Amino acid sequence: MPLHCLVTGANRGIGLAFVRRLLARGDRVVAACRHPGKATALNTLAGEYPGRLHVLPLDVADAKSRAELVRELPLVGGRIDLLINNAGVLHSGERFGALSAAHLEDSFRTNAAGPLLLTEALAPTLSDGGCVANVSSQLGSIANTTRFGTPSYNISKAAQNMATVLLAHALHDRAIKVVALHPGWVQTDMGGAGAQITVEESALGLLRVIDGLSPADSGRFLDWRGETLPW
Ligand code: NAP
Repeated sequence: MPLHCLVTGANRGIGLAFVRRLLARGDRVVAACRHPGKATALNTLAGEYPGRLHVLPLDVADAKSRAELVRELPLVGGRIDLLINNAGVLHSGERFGALSAAHLEDSFRTNAAGPLLLTEALAPTLSDGGCVANVSSQLGSIANTTRFGTPSYNISKAAQNMATVLLAHALHDRAIKVVALHPGWVQTDMGGAGAQITVEESALGLLRVIDGLSPADSGRFLDWRGETLPW
């Protein structure tokens, strides 16, 4: 049976690769992004897959925008079997001695609070037995931190990891699996051209991991090859 999926930050990078992959295998997708009018690739895909791709506005860091998405969802199909919280931000160039409260706050809102609050708001729409995939990062691993770098990002991803475990508990009784996923070092605007893997490799690997999840995997931190990362 085709899955009903929602992908955030779907207009470029790994999010767009998720959308392409899900459509190619027959699923239905709500692609959420900040500026649907400018999302050329998504709008082209919507023409190629009529009725199976809906592009809706979402700024994951904004409460009104999240509420609007929740209101609009019933118009395009309602239930969600797979929610991919992919949208994320990395403020580069931070250094100790010149940290910015604005970058810390924006990162927290976008990478941690946003996906947590969106998942909570969408909980009634999630299918029992479904899945919430939080795209995290190995940079959110406290155990693997060996240097001072990208603090706003690392702290917000560590917070997102905690939110993942808490959501796994909150949704346990409905058998909804909630996982934190590291996509690899991926060739995107964020990862840079010199990164190790393509968006296609990352999305393919992550979907393989998601498809293979059992209820016992809920609350785990895995990479795109299915390997466990330390918190
Ligand atoms: P990217 O190319 O920079 O794309 C980021 C996406 O997130 C864009 O669609 C962007 O939308 C969206 N976004 C940012 N802030 C948003 C907000 N407030 N509301 C809605 N959408 C927002 O990054 P990427 O490499 O594809 O990253 C996707 C995910 O993977 C992120 O969570 C990132 O932290 C994670 N990740 C990436 C790597 C890597 O090597 N690339 C490694 C580890 C983890 P706009 O176009 O509107 O800005």
